[in-house]
Amino acid sequence: MKIFNNLSFRKHIYVIINRNYFVSTKGKKRVQQLHKLPIKVIYVEDDETIMSKTANFLQNYVEEIYVAKNGKEGLELFFDMGPDAVITDFEMPVMDGLEMIKEIKEHRPDTPIFVTTSFENDTLHLTRAIEYGITQYVSKSSKPERLLQSIYDYFKNDEKFNFHLELLDDGTILSIGERFAFILGYSPEELLLEHASRIIEPIPHIHNRHFLSKLNEKKSIEYAHCIFKRKDGAELLLSGSAELVYFDGKKKYISKWHPVDSIMRSNEEIKERLAKETYLKSLMKFHAEISQDIITAFTIEEFLQGFIEKLPKTSEKTLGFLMLMEGSRLKELYHPSNSGVTFDSIASETIDLENSENKKLYLPCFLAMKHSQIVFVDDISNLPETKLKELLTKNGIVTVISIPMKIRLKNMPTGILTLLFKQNHTFDKEELDLWQNIANTVAFGIESIKAKIERDELIRKLDLMAHTDKLTGTVNRHRGIELLEHEIKRAKRYEHPFSIIYFDIDHFKKINDTYGHATGDTVLIKATETIKRNLRATDTLIRWGGEEFMILLPETTLSDAVHLAKKLREYLEMRSADIPVPITASFGVASWEEGQSLDTLVHRADTKMYEAKTLGRNRIAY
Ligand code: GH3
Ligand code: MG
Ligand code: MG
Repeated sequence: MKIFNNLSFRKHIYVIINRNYFVSTKGKKRVQQLHKLPIKVIYVEDDETIMSKTANFLQNYVEEIYVAKNGKEGLELFFDMGPDAVITDFEMPVMDGLEMIKEIKEHRPDTPIFVTTSFENDTLHLTRAIEYGITQYVSKSSKPERLLQSIYDYFKNDEKFNFHLELLDDGTILSIGERFAFILGYSPEELLLEHASRIIEPIPHIHNRHFLSKLNEKKSIEYAHCIFKRKDGAELLLSGSAELVYFDGKKKYISKWHPVDSIMRSNEEIKERLAKETYLKSLMKFHAEISQDIITAFTIEEFLQGFIEKLPKTSEKTLGFLMLMEGSRLKELYHPSNSGVTFDSIASETIDLENSENKKLYLPCFLAMKHSQIVFVDDISNLPETKLKELLTKNGIVTVISIPMKIRLKNMPTGILTLLFKQNHTFDKEELDLWQNIANTVAFGIESIKAKIERDELIRKLDLMAHTDKLTGTVNRHRGIELLEHEIKRAKRYEHPFSIIYFDIDHFKKINDTYGHATGDTVLIKATETIKRNLRATDTLIRWGGEEFMILLPETTLSDAVHLAKKLREYLEMRSADIPVPITASFGVASWEEGQSLDTLVHRADTKMYEAKTLGRNRIAY
């Protein structure tokens, strides 16, 4: 008798499946691609080669396996171990299979027995075996997978693997089987009236999304996959069904869960499926991220750049191209610059799709655009011998898909999202739907960002208009007062100086009277231009009213302000050649002192300006 020691210590490992690990009740996570039935099996076989080959295979799929080399040893093992199932050969020394089966069936008639034999035509043995009630007969020449399938088929309906869970349609747990709760690391009481999201992975997931959203549909669920979350964080993938029943005028779901049917599939296949699942999950995450970007991106370029950078790469083999439409032309092409793809003919200029050469070169795009539908080339070797095929082949592209980007279903696409795969990529409906949603989100994002940019520009314009004097383009009095008040606060806080210059054009009324109002206006425009040219960027020229102006000079002492006022006066007098009629102005200068209000400060500058007027104009007072 040989015990596969590496297995026998693993009592109560309810492993089912996982992403990359399986779990023991001790909470240990192991990186291993194994999916085991929690059963104890004895295997009776006299041929050592067959025995070790089959047992080695089976130990990956069943919890415990014990082997014996004849019926007598097998029977001893049966009484020692109390297995859940027996696998046996017919022809064996000492005691043959039939005899052993007979004994076992007498003691425990419900024991499932799986018979393997090379005597496929031995009808006598078979008839007898059937009489004794064997569960299944499997030819030795068939693969061990076949045997495992039989075992699995038998056990998948067994109570042991049917985990019980009752839910209200809002996801509240009404009851959970003791065994199921235990497998998940809880006691049933702990989970009572809790929300199912405690044990069902709450992050959007393709399987869970189906199951949890189906609860809302208020009808029985025939088949679902679900990732259950153990208390220790490990995950179990189970498949199940849920029946909707009415009780006390309420609705509840009675669900049953068991290890996924894929337990029988080869590890390769499972790996592939899990990879696909992870990929779809990453697509969903990607979709959520680019939706976020619509809000945060400032420009369309930034948004599209983000799209290309965040695009999930199936083993770095996916390339994404975005083509935006402008009439019948493809406007821009975005593609990863470091993709290693060299499309000599693809330039960033616009491409006329009506051109027959381009139609051929961008065939998937063109068709997706024309029919407003997804165009899929699963294998480019099926394409006719064109420049497109040559180009794709040269770059190692195998699969191409073009998806129209649509904001509204009935509208024309606003662009095309093309994905190129360097390895064979098959799409199921779920993935296609996801890509279509992603493409639509890009279209929507572009429109939203466009609208946002336009709106921001409008706000900026309106804001500017509200703060600007129409005639001279200087800051208006309303905004000027705000700026002055702000400057007083700032000066107080930082104990910095600031000054103002108040000036009024001399005899302006005479200009209007002599040359007309229009010339008066031009004089005002020219005069403010002249003044502005001599101010720093931090200074502000404010039209205080009529031909009176205020200059706000932050970080400026009285003497510096006086110096500037002198310069401005001279300049205005000197540069009056630029102005239709010679003009001068009178200036009053004041600087802010601690404790001064805005009114007091302005009043002081006004008084000084008036002083300059009375002293003969075209001068400065302070
Ligand atoms: P003073 O040297 O004492 O300042 O004499 P003044 O003529 O400049 O002063 P007064 O206040 O008597 O006249 C100001 C004139 O400026 C009166 C008004 O018609 C004119 N004015 C005010 N705003 C505008 C404007 O936007 N355009 C034109 N063309 N004239 C304006
Ligand atoms: Mg004046
Ligand atoms: Mg005046």
